[in-house]
Amino acid sequence: MESSLIGYSRGDASAKTFQATNPANGEELPTNYAMASEEEVMDACRLANQASIPLSQISGAEKAVFLRTLADGIAAIVENLVPVMTAETGLPEPRVRAETGRTCGQLRMFAKLVEEGHWVDARIDRAQPNREPLPKPDLRAMLRPIGPVAVFCASNFPLAFSVAGGDSASAWAAGCPVIVKAHHAHPGTALLVGQVVVNTLKKCEWPEGAFSLMFGEGRSVGQSLVKNAQIKAVGFTGSRAGGRALFDLANAREEPIPVFAEMSSINPVFLLPGMNRERIEEFTTGLTGSATLGVGQFCTNPGIVFHPGGEFGDKLISAYVEKMKSVESCPMLHQGICESYKQGLSSLASCEGVKVEYKFESECDGKSSYAGPCVLRTSIADFSRDSSMMEEVFGPSTLLVSYESVDQLLDLVQYLEGQLTVSIFGEKQDLKSQELLIDHLELKAGRILFNQFPTGVEVCDAIVHGGPYPATTDGRSTSVGTGAVLRFARPVCYQGFPDDWLPAELKEGNPLSINRCEV
Ligand code: NAP
Repeated sequence: MESSLIGYSRGDASAKTFQATNPANGEELPTNYAMASEEEVMDACRLANQASIPLSQISGAEKAVFLRTLADGIAAIVENLVPVMTAETGLPEPRVRAETGRTCGQLRMFAKLVEEGHWVDARIDRAQPNREPLPKPDLRAMLRPIGPVAVFCASNFPLAFSVAGGDSASAWAAGCPVIVKAHHAHPGTALLVGQVVVNTLKKCEWPEGAFSLMFGEGRSVGQSLVKNAQIKAVGFTGSRAGGRALFDLANAREEPIPVFAEMSSINPVFLLPGMNRERIEEFTTGLTGSATLGVGQFCTNPGIVFHPGGEFGDKLISAYVEKMKSVESCPMLHQGICESYKQGLSSLASCEGVKVEYKFESECDGKSSYAGPCVLRTSIADFSRDSSMMEEVFGPSTLLVSYESVDQLLDLVQYLEGQLTVSIFGEKQDLKSQELLIDHLELKAGRILFNQFPTGVEVCDAIVHGGPYPATTDGRSTSVGTGAVLRFARPVCYQGFPDDWLPAELKEGNPLSINRCEV
C-alpha cells in the first residue's frame, strides 16, 4: 500500500484506496494507493505556506543546484520508470526514455535561467531628490515568487507535465512551493518521481514544504487544494471541463487566484489557395505523422484542416485516407480518454454534412483502450453552421474541411475559438496576398507555423505554448519554455530602501551582473 507524500512524511495508508489500470489489457495493476484526506490536504498546504518565505530567499544559484540535482536523480531512475510507466499508460519504452530526457532537460533549462538571473526583470528608477516640482523617490522592482502552487499532473505527459514536469519546474524556479495532485491513471510513475523530489529536497536542505504529492480523486483532493487559502496559483493540463471547473472554483474563492489551465485546442491547419498541388504527397505524409503521433494524444494535435475544394480537395482526401489506413491502432492513455475519443467521433460523424471517409474500429470495449485513426470530411458551409464541429476530439482523427474562397475562411476565423497553434501551408508569395487572413489568425493562437506541423513542441526561450480561451484560461501565458516561470511570479516594487537591504538583483553595484532596465 502506498500513500501521499506530505513534505517528508507519508499519508495515512489505511484510507480508501484506488489502483491504476493497464490500458493495453484493462487489468488492474497490483499496487493500492491511499486517497488523501481533507486533513492531509490541509497539512500539505500548511507546510507549503511555511516554506514560502525560506524558499523566496533562496538564491538563483542555489535553485539551480536543486533543479540540476533533481534532473540527475530522475535520469538515474529511468530503468525503474520504464516498466511502471509503460504498464500505467500503454506508452512504449522509447517514449518513456524520451520523456525522461525532456523532463530532465526542462529542469536544467530552468536551472540555467535562474542561475543567469535576468528573468527577474529588474527595473531601477533612481531617486532625483532635486526634481521640480516634486522630488522623485528611489524605486526598484523585480519579480518575486507568488507563493504555493497546486499542480495537476497531465495524463498525456506522465513525466514532462506531471510531478517534476514543466509546471513544477517553473514554480520551483520562481521560488514557489509545489503541491502536486497525481493523475489517477499513473500514480506509480508519480510516486517514483515524487520520491526523487523528496530525496533532492533533503540533499539540498530545502524546507520540506517545498513539495507534497497527493493521491486521490480530482473532484475532492484537487478541489480542496484549489480552495485552500494558502494556495496562490494553479497549473493544470487536461480537459476543458476540468480546467474550467478549477478556474471557476479559484475565482469563487474569497481571495481569487490565477489558474493557468491548458485545455482544449483543435490546432487548425489552413492550406492557402495558391499551395502547389505537387506538395499534396509530402503534406499528407507529414499530416499523418503529426495527427497520429502518440495516438493523437498531444495538445497540439492538428484536428482540422481547411483546404481548397474541387480537384485539389479530392486528391488531398484520397492521399490522406490511403496514408491513415496504414496506421495501426494502439492503446490510449486511459479508458476515459478512449471513451471520450469514441464519443467525440460519433458526435462529429452525426453532424449534418459530415462524411466519414475512413474509420479504424476502436476497441474501447470496457477493458483495453485501443484506438486507431479516423478521417472525416465536410464543407466550410456546413462547418460554419454547426459550432459543435469545433470541439476537440482528443485522439488520432482529422476533419478535412473544403472551402471555395478565401472570403469563406475570413468569415470563419471571426468565430474560431482560441487555439494553441494555427498552421498555414502555402507558397511564400501567398503570405503577402493572404495578409488579412493571417492577421486574423494571429488573434486566435499562441503559435503560428508556416509550412510546418504543430506537434513536437520545442522547449526553449521563444516557444509559446498557450493561447486565447479555451486553449488556456490565461492567454498571456505559456506553459512550455522559460517564459513559463512568469506565471508564478509577481512584480514587487521597493521604494526608498537602503542599498544593503535590497535583494542582490536590485543593489546599486549589480553584484549578480544581470541585465537591468535602469534610469
Ligand atoms: P482531466 O479529466 O481534465 O483530468 C486532469 C486532472 O484534473 C486529473 O488530475 C483530474 O483528477 C483532475 N480533474 C478533472 N476534472 C476535475 C474537476 N472537475 N475538479 C477537480 N479536479 C479535476 O483530463 P484527462 O484525464 O487528462 O483526460 C480527459 C480528457 O481531457 C481527454 O479525453 C481530452 O479530451 C482532454 N485532454 C486534453 C488535453 C489537451 O492538452 N488538450 C490533454 C489531456 C487531456 P483525476 O485524476 O481524479 O481524474
